[in-house]
Amino acid sequence: MNQEIKSTTSSETTVWDVLHLSGSPHIPSSLKVPHAWLLLGPTGSGKRATALAMAAAFTCPDLPGVGCGVCSTCTRIISGRHPDLHLIAPEGQVISVDAIRVGVIPEAARSPFEGRRKVFVIEEAERMHPSAQNALLKTLEEPPEGTIIILVCDREDELLETVSSRCRVVHFQRVPCEAIQAILEAEAAETPVARLAARIADGDINRARAFALEPEAQSRHRSFAGVPARLTSSLEALDAAAEIVTEAATAVKGRSEAQKQEVVDLAVALGEGRGTASARASLAKRHKRELRRLENEVLNEALWTIGSWYRDVLAARRSAPDAIANLDLKADVVRWAAASEPDDGLLVAAIHRCAVTPGALARNANPSLAIEAALVDLARLAPPPPESPTMD
Ligand SMILES: [Zn+2]
Repeated sequence: MNQEIKSTTSSETTVWDVLHLSGSPHIPSSLKVPHAWLLLGPTGSGKRATALAMAAAFTCPDLPGVGCGVCSTCTRIISGRHPDLHLIAPEGQVISVDAIRVGVIPEAARSPFEGRRKVFVIEEAERMHPSAQNALLKTLEEPPEGTIIILVCDREDELLETVSSRCRVVHFQRVPCEAIQAILEAEAAETPVARLAARIADGDINRARAFALEPEAQSRHRSFAGVPARLTSSLEALDAAAEIVTEAATAVKGRSEAQKQEVVDLAVALGEGRGTASARASLAKRHKRELRRLENEVLNEALWTIGSWYRDVLAARRSAPDAIANLDLKADVVRWAAASEPDDGLLVAAIHRCAVTPGALARNANPSLAIEAALVDLARLAPPPPESPTMD
């Protein structure tokens, strides 16, 4: 393997530009291509986009080693619809040993459909069951010729050392606020929206992009950010919880409609032939997984947004207005901050309550009950100060 991944210095557009990864410090630059990679870093730091850009770079016939970003190979890889790209992700909570034994090992031994390489991207690799990780070891150690495996992972401590030590590790950081704003503006978001999105996303490009480009996400954010001002009693808390759960259900319904179109698009893109059945099956699996995850994502977004409100009030009390995330609600934040209640300790407790609830949701707690319990606690800990105006 002599091919290199490069951040190109020419003026040509590449797949890295297309995915807004150009100039990013975490792009592996001019490295010999190892067979096994571990992309490691927080949610929304660009790991998945980088994995796809790498896959395109490895297989692009027009700019080999760089990826042109526009040829048929690159565009199909970027959209996850290339027969030599295999996306593996958790079914439910884990990636089972069978997912590796059936979906990776025998596939890796077959020759690529179109090009010289096939690429396996294992998403949320930390969710591989230990037996699945052990099953993968030999393939990681000595992948068949032309096979590249990229593990995408939020938490290295849940990977076996024997797995991570066999990979070239690339560390990712939260995306800086200014970089997120620039990416969103390049994607045609208006400057004020892009600025607000970058502030509230806390380094998570996916969250920022959803906010900037989807009107539903903006309306959800407004509604979630208004929750703290409504928590005057347990009864109000239960009402707000019911609305949050409904928002999540609505998002799931919307995504399910979009998926139907994706199935049609895939059929048109692939036609019939070798590899199409497995591409269809993997799309169907991905869709199921997306719906399961989306509900939790919206609930987590609600908790994160509500928590960000209390953080903003603390920031305003500390005279750190630059740290305020909810720029659109700054006047209300400042009014809360000027009141003596809830005091700082209670705000911290409220932030903590918001921070621990996603863990309960991930452990399969009943979503409605988990959200209700959290909001009732918030109403007790940090009710709005009496002089606080009610928000629409
Ligand atoms: Zn290309």
